[in-house]
Amino acid sequence: MPVNPSSPTAMSVSLISCHSCHQLSKVAPSDKTRAVFCPRCGARLHSRKPNSIARTWALVIAAFIFYIPANVLPITTVISLGKAQSDTIMSGVIYFVKSGSWPIALVIFVASIFVPLMKLFLLTFLLISVQRKSQWRPKDRTRLYRITEAVGRWSMTDIYVVTILVALVKLGSLATIEAGPGAVFFAGVVIITIYAAMSFDPRLIWDAQESNNER
Ligand SMILES: [Zn+2]
Repeated sequence: MPVNPSSPTAMSVSLISCHSCHQLSKVAPSDKTRAVFCPRCGARLHSRKPNSIARTWALVIAAFIFYIPANVLPITTVISLGKAQSDTIMSGVIYFVKSGSWPIALVIFVASIFVPLMKLFLLTFLLISVQRKSQWRPKDRTRLYRITEAVGRWSMTDIYVVTILVALVKLGSLATIEAGPGAVFFAGVVIITIYAAMSFDPRLIWDAQESNNER
């Protein structure tokens, strides 16, 4: 369906939608410089998520930094017959490939290496495109944003794999397996990326189109 360029945005007719309860409120032009609150639920009103670009950048950069120790430090340590063996995410993937369990290797690779990086690169791309007021395919960029939000809940798959492995080995009592420091950083990457996706305001993609229509 084509986008109707004549339909006004809430912002262009001085309406603000409440982030908490979605009540629309009329704001006077003089209200734009001071804090206004939702008349229904009392939440602070913003026509766009406040400091969306700066906050999302800060979180994306933090997640990229956490991504390094998450992959360099061991994510699991297996102690079997007195011998300890530590595995990073990648050495775990290689171990499962070598032992023939390639479906597990694939799940770990996709969930722990590919998906977190893809999300961070997508968010970086969206941030740069919004900052440059890009006119390029706003609908597809909004779709990319929806992907980053939707895959967030699947990022924890790897932590599940670790906990299930821990449970299996503990039950078998042949060896002990412990989560390593890499797991903490990996959880950090997952959580920070979820917050980064939340703090990005996809309406900024469309604001560039609006200002272009007005010109
Ligand atoms: Zn409200």
